[in-house]
Amino acid sequence: MVHPYLRELPQGLEKLVELSLDLHWAWSHGSDHLWQEIDPAVWARTKNPWLILQSVSERRLEQLAQDQSFLAELDRLEQARRDYHKSESWFGDNYANNDGLIAYFSMEYGLTEALPLYSGGLGMLAGDHLKTASDLGVPIVAVGLLYQEGYFRQMLDARGRQLEIYPYNIPTSMPITPVRAEDGSWLGVPIELPGRILILRVWQVQVGKVNLYLLDSNDAMNTPLDRGITGKLYGGGLETRLVQEIALGLGGWRALAALGLRPDVCHLNEGHAAFVTMERARYFMEENNVDFWEALWATRGGNVFTTHTPVAAAFDVYPRVLIKEYGAHYAKQLGVSARELMALGSKSHNGDDDAFNMAYLAMRTCNRVNGVSELHGKVSRRIFDDLYPHWPEREIPVGHITNGIHVPSWDSPWADEIWTKTCGKGRWLGTPETLSEAIKSLGDNALWQFRGKERHELVQYARHRLARQLGQRGADDEMLAKAENFLDPNMLTLGFARRFTEYKRPNLLLRDPDRLERLLTNSVHPVQLIVAGKAHPQDETGKLFIQAWAEFVSRPSVRAHVVFLEDYDMDLAQEMVQGVDVWINTPRRPWEASGTSGMKVLVNGGLNLSELDGWWAEAYTPGVGWALGDGQEHAEPGWDAVEAEQLYDLLEHEIVPMYYRRDSQGIPCEWVARMRASMSQLAPQFSSNRMLQEYVRNAYLPAIASYRKRTAEGGRLGKVLAAWESEVRRNWHEIHLSNLEVKQQEGGWLFSLQVYLGAIPPESVRVQLYAEPEAGETVELPMMACGCDIPGAIHGYVYDCAIMTTRPASDFTPRVMAYHADVLTPIETGLIVWWQGTS
Ligand SMILES: *Cc1c(COP(=O)(O)O)cnc(C)c1O
Repeated sequence: MVHPYLRELPQGLEKLVELSLDLHWAWSHGSDHLWQEIDPAVWARTKNPWLILQSVSERRLEQLAQDQSFLAELDRLEQARRDYHKSESWFGDNYANNDGLIAYFSMEYGLTEALPLYSGGLGMLAGDHLKTASDLGVPIVAVGLLYQEGYFRQMLDARGRQLEIYPYNIPTSMPITPVRAEDGSWLGVPIELPGRILILRVWQVQVGKVNLYLLDSNDAMNTPLDRGITGKLYGGGLETRLVQEIALGLGGWRALAALGLRPDVCHLNEGHAAFVTMERARYFMEENNVDFWEALWATRGGNVFTTHTPVAAAFDVYPRVLIKEYGAHYAKQLGVSARELMALGSKSHNGDDDAFNMAYLAMRTCNRVNGVSELHGKVSRRIFDDLYPHWPEREIPVGHITNGIHVPSWDSPWADEIWTKTCGKGRWLGTPETLSEAIKSLGDNALWQFRGKERHELVQYARHRLARQLGQRGADDEMLAKAENFLDPNMLTLGFARRFTEYKRPNLLLRDPDRLERLLTNSVHPVQLIVAGKAHPQDETGKLFIQAWAEFVSRPSVRAHVVFLEDYDMDLAQEMVQGVDVWINTPRRPWEASGTSGMKVLVNGGLNLSELDGWWAEAYTPGVGWALGDGQEHAEPGWDAVEAEQLYDLLEHEIVPMYYRRDSQGIPCEWVARMRASMSQLAPQFSSNRMLQEYVRNAYLPAIASYRKRTAEGGRLGKVLAAWESEVRRNWHEIHLSNLEVKQQEGGWLFSLQVYLGAIPPESVRVQLYAEPEAGETVELPMMACGCDIPGAIHGYVYDCAIMTTRPASDFTPRVMAYHADVLTPIETGLIVWWQGTS
């Protein structure tokens, strides 16, 4: 294969091209030794096989081309890669007849450091989603942006201030390939912006079986300003951000169309991508000669939205003027008014609002919506309730699919070994539930040994990384030599690494620095701590937290026990989650939508000490780790102090003593029992295998079915539904209720109610008795049956319903909701009338 960015390789080495461009290497690790053999220095520094192929000398390549054992190994690896691509999969085994296609849209992807296009958890999740889709054979194609500078890299200056550095991502050195159109030209996707056309170039990334398409604007045909649109991730102002989101949504859909791909499902990873739903409808509209609303009704069945935001203030919001400027031309194309366009992203239906909210747009244009943990689902129902006036919070249409992590990307070589021994090689290619039993059988000795190896590796890595960062700052040889002796491979090792932002409370452990110092330097039971994390460039508070840590680690007394490692990235995260004994997480509940870093320690035998927030609120039981907080939300100012106290107490009185309580062989049996419980009970459950299987069953498959049904025959059902909705909406005000009568009966109540529907036929409504469920109860809400006509009334009926219950009649309130068998309520129509009066 001749690649535009690669010189010709000597005969026999051609297979290196495909091997290096398939990111499967990033998690199979099967070829690590091969890249290392070609160029150990570049491999160690960059973990980028593609760069190795570009930079290695001709001489080295000639040598390798003569090396029979290297060639044999290359053959074996390329064959293994092909076998992986052809292998049977969970999806194929279970849904052999399903030929649906899912398109996944995300602003960021964390796949490997060789492709640094992420800032944090959202990107990691997206990366793990794609890798898992590859492993499970789920038919996903993904779309994102290629940033010239990505997210910033972090350094600290001598005073501990964060410096932001933006090294240039050289596209030709990243494992990506330009996509060619049929005529051989570079595929470019045009987008109409005010006064100009923006061209987006298309690149392809091979993520195992999954294709990821990346768009970038750095094309010489664009204006200098527009070339910078895909410059930075989460940099620039509101306008840049808006255009980035237009590029992702509109550009993303156009790119897929240009490639001949017509997905059944669009999955929006956060509201950033929501414009894709409009572009999808626009395509449908033009191809089927229907109007925008009919097209939206038809295509919405296939749209899935995952929200990650825990507070309304964090939604992506654009001012009206910007939407007006950028949306004017587009509204014309859609055949809707500027006001109607605005209304799609506004709280009110009339489009008078001043703010266009991307999450609202997503709620209006997607049929299946989920938060990312059980608690976050609940929080989301609260923060979206503005969009569904008169609906009880529990019926706000947001469910949850708890996040998971792609285990093969985060396990250590030693964890891989021990899991392979007990659960076999293909364990993360299928259903994870069966793994728990096998891991339970692991002996104390084996568990404690592998933990020791992982901790040792982390200590080595941390020393090197520290020496490198000190060297960068110009430290002298004496200091560098000292750094080589910091930390201790046998000491209880705590890890804290995350974005430094207020709600994560990265200073909670530092609240009483002297107490932390005493804890770390205890002469009998010493402790060590590794800290890392970046603050967003505009987050001054976050930067002050970093400075506080920098100040603390420079205390001579704690130097050997605590290090701050700069530039928290995937590589560092991998080392940390593999090596620590305890992973600490201190968010302010309920601000951590899910959190995933704590899940990454599970497979490696690390234990969690975390606030009862996000995933930990549903994972925690006393035998698997430790919990902070009381499982409630607290706004009072003194609460941080309470939790800081709890954090120190747990460490001093429980965690540290347990780690050092050893049996005659030197094994901490209680500790190991917790490792075993955490590994067996939690690692499978919080793997992305479980997560993606839930997405398939609860979101993708129903979405495929709904999309196909609604779009069949040029969108016939879509048109029916659009007409149904406007009819019902127009006449909804005519509904009124009267004469509620309740009679006591044997074992319950008989309700009857007069319902006047006006122009609305009775089959377009459901009349129901609503009651808040009592604790722990899941009641089916009883439907009231349409009985006799009310004489002289148009569509006036007596509805009645007998219920068996011990609850008082006053717990039940009748209500009328719009109903169509093919419409989801309330996400597609929230039309509802409640019984208000007493009669
Ligand atoms: C996993 C990961 C995250 C997300 O972790 P949180 O639990 O949300 O803090 C962020 N950054 C990196 C580098 C990660 O690996």
